[in-house]
Amino acid sequence: MRTDIGIDFGTDTTRIYMGRGVVLSKPTVITIDNDTGLPKAYGAEAYQMIGRTSDRLTSVCPVQNGTIADFEAAQLLLKEYFTRVSGKKLIRPRTMVAIPGNITAVKQRSVVDALESAGARNVCLIEAPLAAAIGLDVDFSTPKGVTVVDIGKGTTDIAVLSMGGLARCESLPMGGGAFDEEIVRFVRREYNVAIGVLTAERIKKTIGCVKPRDLEVGMTVNGLNLFNGMPQSVEVNTAQLYEVMMVTAEEMIRSIQRVFEQTAPEMVADTAKDGLILTGGGSLTYGMPELLEERLKLKVKPVADPLNCVINGIGKALNNSQVLKNGDYRFRSLEDLSIE
Ligand code: ADP
Ligand code: MG
Repeated sequence: MRTDIGIDFGTDTTRIYMGRGVVLSKPTVITIDNDTGLPKAYGAEAYQMIGRTSDRLTSVCPVQNGTIADFEAAQLLLKEYFTRVSGKKLIRPRTMVAIPGNITAVKQRSVVDALESAGARNVCLIEAPLAAAIGLDVDFSTPKGVTVVDIGKGTTDIAVLSMGGLARCESLPMGGGAFDEEIVRFVRREYNVAIGVLTAERIKKTIGCVKPRDLEVGMTVNGLNLFNGMPQSVEVNTAQLYEVMMVTAEEMIRSIQRVFEQTAPEMVADTAKDGLILTGGGSLTYGMPELLEERLKLKVKPVADPLNCVINGIGKALNNSQVLKNGDYRFRSLEDLSIE
């Protein structure tokens, strides 16, 4: 049996590919017992505990803005997920992992170290938007520029691909999670009520928008009144959310524009003709494709399964080493990351 595995260690979700498909897809969250330092819960269970833990337990999101923020927690989480997918049999798999574009060698090294200490060997790295393009069977073997924008939870990765590799790749430290934080701040400001980020994320997914909705709806959520410390429910509506979320969306658009300004004009022109490929969970934000289309003056092509493009691409690259053979792309591995 093959022991190669692919992993997309996302800020939001960890996805693992093994054999012929995605075998695990769980939140990148772990709950640690502060007294013993031992893990108490992983994945969905740990995610539910965010903002609900006691003094004794802490829920940690070990990946922040696409890079490892808590090494120990990352290692424990990866070890658990490796064990879940491989049982006891599979030992030290060869691993391909997705990383954001243009992160420093130190940060790349930290991903490799975390994977190796969790049991992986021969770790090689692939930029997430490149993996997404492979997952979508996009042809980027010609000199023509193909642009991919991947909006995750903590990053927005922008890549221009051509000649079988990356012509330009930039990772902005901002993604769908910024909407959640903005919604938390809004409710606090407007109602003096504190809500958790999980509640904010639920609001965003249910009635949030960056394009006015035809039908205005409200949603009632529970929080804590900051004056009297008592539970209080508040109602937020789509019009408020539009206004709040647009602040974050504008910032995102400005950053994307800045990347385009520094990209060869011919490549941007190609994108104007063929359209920009939009992926990642943040692309599911209601109205996002239309907003980007309007503001960037480019055709935007949303994809069918934005959450799994990257991991599917890694799977394809693992099963077919020819995928990137003709380009000037070279997978980086540990030897390339030696740091003085
Ligand atoms: P990452 O690569 O960082 O793990 P993903 O590509 O899995 O992230 O996307 C996760 C982000 O997408 C989260 O911020 C989540 O709230 C957001 N998201 C997922 N589904 C939706 C939806 N239907 N509407 C708005 N945002 C969504
Ligand atoms: Mg991602």
